[in-house]
Amino acid sequence: MKNNFNQSRIRICNKKPVLSNAKYVLYWMQANRRFTWNHSLDYAVQVAKELGKELVVYEGLRMDYPWNSKRIHKFILEGMIENSKEAERISANYWCFVETPKNPARGLLKKISQDAAVIITDDFPCFIIPEQIAKLSEKVDCQLVAIDGNGIIPLSEYGTFASAARVLRTRIHKLFANHYISRAKPHYKKGELASLNKGTKAPFQNFAGLDSELIASLEEIPFTNQIDPVDGVKGGRSQALKILKEFLENKIIRYETDRSKPDHPESVAVSNLSAYLHFGHISAEEIITAVLDWSDNFYTKGKSTTWTPAVLNLDFRGKRENFYSPLSAANSYLDEIITWRDTAYQLFWHKREFRKNTDILPDWVKANFARHKKDKRDFHYTKEEWQNSKTHDPIWNAAQTELVTTGRMHNYMRMLWGKKIIEWSPTIEEAFDLLEEFNNLYAYDGRNPNSYAGILWCFGLFDRPWFPERNVLGNIRYMSSDSTKKKFKLKGYLDYIDTLSERQGSLF
Ligand SMILES: Cc1cc2nc3c(=O)[nH]c(=O)nc-3n(C[C@H](O)[C@H](O)[C@H](O)COP(=O)(O)OP(=O)(O)OC[C@H]3O[C@@H](n4cnc5c(N)ncnc54)[C@H](O)[C@@H]3O)c2cc1C
Repeated sequence: MKNNFNQSRIRICNKKPVLSNAKYVLYWMQANRRFTWNHSLDYAVQVAKELGKELVVYEGLRMDYPWNSKRIHKFILEGMIENSKEAERISANYWCFVETPKNPARGLLKKISQDAAVIITDDFPCFIIPEQIAKLSEKVDCQLVAIDGNGIIPLSEYGTFASAARVLRTRIHKLFANHYISRAKPHYKKGELASLNKGTKAPFQNFAGLDSELIASLEEIPFTNQIDPVDGVKGGRSQALKILKEFLENKIIRYETDRSKPDHPESVAVSNLSAYLHFGHISAEEIITAVLDWSDNFYTKGKSTTWTPAVLNLDFRGKRENFYSPLSAANSYLDEIITWRDTAYQLFWHKREFRKNTDILPDWVKANFARHKKDKRDFHYTKEEWQNSKTHDPIWNAAQTELVTTGRMHNYMRMLWGKKIIEWSPTIEEAFDLLEEFNNLYAYDGRNPNSYAGILWCFGLFDRPWFPERNVLGNIRYMSSDSTKKKFKLKGYLDYIDTLSERQGSLF
């Protein structure tokens, strides 16, 4: 197919033809669960126009994915409810399927693929998505194309695996301007997809996007994990936009200085958008654009609202400061959402065979842990004790309580939390399994490349050796609750956790 789409976002997943006699172009929305700022949707629209076919957008939700729970499910369903409304507004033919015991998903995707000329999907490099894409691409008769809309810069543009954020930062700064100008379409107008909608009906009962359906499905599904949704946490694009607005108005200006201090979440100057990014309810491109426009507006005192790459300060290529904006708050935030996030995503992009374990750690880290394998562990806990915040360390317990009861954890505490599990577990493999399970089970933003990069960072990935060499951790960066107490005033954070503790109870 000829079109002017950025080729480095396109991955053809099988050697099957585009079937010109088939009924529709199918966009299988798996990771970018939204109708705006979505490269896969933009590509699907282009292809449907070019082939003169109907466009069907299919968004499904099975009930048996790893770490499934009412908590995660409700968040995704809230996004689907909004998508139903948005599809109606832009006149997209949107097929929305929610599996329940009475309404099984088995064979459904293959069935709807039978009428597809070509299938387009989101190239998210983690969780079950790469396997799902590989499986479907074998089963179908038509071409399957995966589109990388994960960030501003397509992951294939980064070249070889970058072993540290600083390595990737230099590449990002080189590529940023060119890709910034070809971001996804921010908005489809009312009725804009009507000409691609011939009204073909889904071969299943559509989830119509009613609140009552959401409640009924949550009641019917026998979730493997009994984890309740958190009061006040809601999925979906409009909630993400509300949080982004609040962040830009009240918090980002303090991001560089106050991001790391554990405190009541209302006082911590972070964006809280990771879960919305994970489920694709908002795109990284949209957030980055909003932050750049905010910085431009701030700096020019409201005279301009649209940032352009002309503002880039090329003297600061490869540096954290001053590159995107003269405002350090903006640079600091952008370095997290671009450099650190893409460092995690490229880990999965390059290591598609990565089975999510400690094998990926660099040789110096493996040698380090081999040297310290037999070191005496100062503490031993059962899984139940870990899970129920029953260690000797009140600061660690506070972090675990935050995760279990709120579905998130303060970033600094997350690092300390991970380091301590490594230090107090009998082996690094057991530590990894526990971290993966807790993070992915309880955190709204879990099951993401950042989950694994964050966990593995605690083991030394993307880091350097630190001295002196210590018990168990050896030359891996050491963190302790005592130094955290010295570094920050923790009263606000601990008082907040106290208010949560009552809700926790025993999980067994
Ligand atoms: C043990 C451990 C586990 C982690 N698990 C996850 C996880 O499951 N999901 C997840 O998204 N992040 C994870 N992180 C990284 C980081 O803690 C979160 O991205 C961040 O706290 C999310 O909150 P926020 O959206 O308010 O971040 P902000 O500080 O507002 O940052 C904005 C965005 O930048 C990105 N970002 C920020 N910090 C990092 C980082 N260190 N690495 C990569 N990207 C980053 C995220 O996309 C984030 O949403 C983990 C870190 C550790 C140490």
